[in-house]
Amino acid sequence: MAMTITCADMGYSCGYGITGESMDQILSGIKHHSLEFHDYTEEELTNSDAVEQWKGALRQSSRPGDTRTPRDESDRNIVPH
Ligand SMILES: [Zn+2]
Repeated sequence: MAMTITCADMGYSCGYGITGESMDQILSGIKHHSLEFHDYTEEELTNSDAVEQWKGALRQSSRPGDTRTPRDESDRNIVPH
């Protein structure tokens, strides 16, 4: 299943977007892009939370027919009876 993520999804405003068949493929594309355009270093990309944030953004943006609810966590506060 193809997934798409844009820099806007990740909090940037550069208008870049990438589509791939797997999360790994997209993440490697994002890494390349971030190294060149967002002043990340290899070390930052390996050790920081940035990649986790991108994965979260990917999961949000890859939902089919999604209405893009920005605050997904609110669901988790609902306690079942
Ligand atoms: Zn970008």
